[in-house]
Amino acid sequence: MFEHQSYTQRVVFGADAGRTLLAAEVDRLGAQRVLLVAAPSARAQAAALTASLPMAGAVDEVRMHVPVEVAAAARRRAGETGADLLLAVGGGSATGTAKAVAMTSGLPILAVPTTYAGSEVTPVWGLTEGGRKTTGVDVRVLPRTVVYDPSLTLTLPVGMSIASGLNALAHCVDSLWAPRVNPVDTALALEAAHALAEGLPRVYADPTGPDGRSSTLYGAYLGALAFAGAGSGLHHKICHVLGGAYDLPHARTHAVVLPHVLAFNAPAAPEPVARLARALDASDASAALDKLYDAVGAPRSLRALGMPEDRLPEAAALIAEAAPPSNPRPVSEADALAILRAAF
Ligand code: NAD
Repeated sequence: MFEHQSYTQRVVFGADAGRTLLAAEVDRLGAQRVLLVAAPSARAQAAALTASLPMAGAVDEVRMHVPVEVAAAARRRAGETGADLLLAVGGGSATGTAKAVAMTSGLPILAVPTTYAGSEVTPVWGLTEGGRKTTGVDVRVLPRTVVYDPSLTLTLPVGMSIASGLNALAHCVDSLWAPRVNPVDTALALEAAHALAEGLPRVYADPTGPDGRSSTLYGAYLGALAFAGAGSGLHHKICHVLGGAYDLPHARTHAVVLPHVLAFNAPAAPEPVARLARALDASDASAALDKLYDAVGAPRSLRALGMPEDRLPEAAALIAEAAPPSNPRPVSEADALAILRAAF
């Protein structure tokens, strides 16, 4: 017996899809007043994408983890402009800002992702107030359409590309033991892990080459679908604590923590971990991950990301409290501290 929840969303994927297919997708949604949500760093890319669209305005204050004041300003802008569609161009932060507007206005979102974060396929929103991040699920924030165009990721710096791609791999691995784990999302996660392990070394070797970018974006899409269905496992709970309480950077924190969660859970989850190893064309999943990390110069230390060492015990207590009952083995405060120390 299993349960599997899927969501209604249209996805188009292809090299140059932004330039060649976006206008038709805007039309298809019947939009006549499009509000662009994009960081200033995405301005040039966004200008090229929106030149022929019926634009009503733009929101360019986009910050990681969506502070409530940023959400409030974006909501005001949507009201002032009479927008009928939110066009999010950027990484998880741009998508997250559009989600904050959709949550209160019900406006549809068309997402054009430029990182591998995957927020565009989840109904999960996040807001931060006074250093505390709150997340929730609301189908109104799920983008109606996603236009995936690997060529838009060519400008993502190689370090951020690798970290973001490993954030996507974390969606795959964590969905193997997440609260709503099910065979459909596991199949997606394994196909995604294969595509990411194949794509990321090519992105690292040739950041402006289209093939590695395409495999990685495809893997990121499938991995995020698996995550949307299966939910947040131990890995995501750890990163949520670290990102929320110590303001660590999202993608790199995921990249650093992932091997330690895999090592901790592997002895208690031999079957899914053996399948993960096969997806990575290896006999041992942890060794394969280690090899991949070496091959792509992945970030390896929480210390280097700015985690204060004296706060590790406090973080461990928060993690032990948040660990999902679905985890293949119980997580005591001492276990959480050992994972954090290894990642530190
Ligand atoms: P981000 O969106 O903050 O982007 C990281 C940096 O890369 C930014 O400076 C951005 O301007 C720049 N950038 C993005 N695309 C670029 C490109 N193509 N070329 C050059 N520069 C580019 O980071 P992210 O990791 O994509 O997203 C992180 C945020 O998304 C966090 O707040 C996280 O919580 C959220 N998130 C939410 C979900 C969800 O399901 N709700 C899933 C994943 C991430």
